[in-house]
Amino acid sequence: MPLTEFSLIDRFFAGHKRRGDVALGIGDDAAVVDVPPGEQLVVAVDTLVAGVHFPDHTAAADIGHKALAVNLSDMAAMGACPRWATLALTLPRVDADWLGEFARGFFALAERFDVELIGGDTTRGPLCVSVQILGTVPRNRVLQRAGARAGDRIFVSGSLGDAGLALSLLQTQRACGEDERAELLARLHRPDPRVALGERLRGIASAVIDVSDGLLADLGHILQRSGVGATLWVERLPRSAAFQVCVSAQSPDWFELPLAAGDDYELCFTAAPAQADALQNLARELGIAITEIGAIEADTGLRCRLDDGRAFQPTRQGYEHFD
Ligand code: ADP
Ligand code: MG
Repeated sequence: MPLTEFSLIDRFFAGHKRRGDVALGIGDDAAVVDVPPGEQLVVAVDTLVAGVHFPDHTAAADIGHKALAVNLSDMAAMGACPRWATLALTLPRVDADWLGEFARGFFALAERFDVELIGGDTTRGPLCVSVQILGTVPRNRVLQRAGARAGDRIFVSGSLGDAGLALSLLQTQRACGEDERAELLARLHRPDPRVALGERLRGIASAVIDVSDGLLADLGHILQRSGVGATLWVERLPRSAAFQVCVSAQSPDWFELPLAAGDDYELCFTAAPAQADALQNLARELGIAITEIGAIEADTGLRCRLDDGRAFQPTRQGYEHFD
């Protein structure tokens, strides 16, 4: 039986009420939410286009997960608490199996972060998934790209280059053990947004960004918005165990993937040296690695160095949509 737009929404997207601060959810012309007194609304939107942001034939559940995860990552980078989401879905056809899987991936992650889907739009066309996320932050406590100061240290959460390596595993004949391959593909298809870390960085970090387009590009945004420069120690970039098994330290990818590949959704942030202990405690408490990778300097521009002090010249700058 063909599904109409309304029965499709009812069947797959309505019926996931979970928050007391949603005055009016799916079903009317717009949704209504209660913003707690003393908090500000933080809003972001991110679109995933088939073939651009995920390989064709990516599992529907992974697309559902990732569409929300990349938006949660933007909330993390602002130090905001995600609360509500809307979903604009463009589908080439109504495929109940695909929609069921997409919804499963989307709502599993939404439940983990207590986010409620409060509305959206459904249209026909080439597969495209746009999620808008709405969160809140205590007034004037939001974290921004601007704010890094000379003398601050640069940190990154988790590990870098895994998603880029996974993409190259899908696109080339590169050899890699089965366990490592599974771990790396999970990093590409199922990013784990650093929401708890982002909220805890309020009062600690001076500037924050999430690494979606590659470290060089995203750290570059912090530097530009803050009007400062930096030295980055490229041998200290955190590489996962799976990455270290699959990539030789002699290969150019050892540096290029952590520096320039996108899709890792880690947080890159700056903080005064006096915050080092607070950050170590936070890393332990949250069970997330936090690695110091460089320092902010008054001289603008980004300088990459090896541990022996020699300059390192990266060949790629990061992912650019309009190259
Ligand atoms: P309108 O024509 O007023 O834009 P729609 O027919 O597009 O309304 O949508 C009806 C209701 O279903 C609205 O509340 C809308 O927010 C919701 N909705 C539509 N598509 C989705 C979707 N993909 N996910 C969640 N809610 C949706
Ligand atoms: Mg509509």
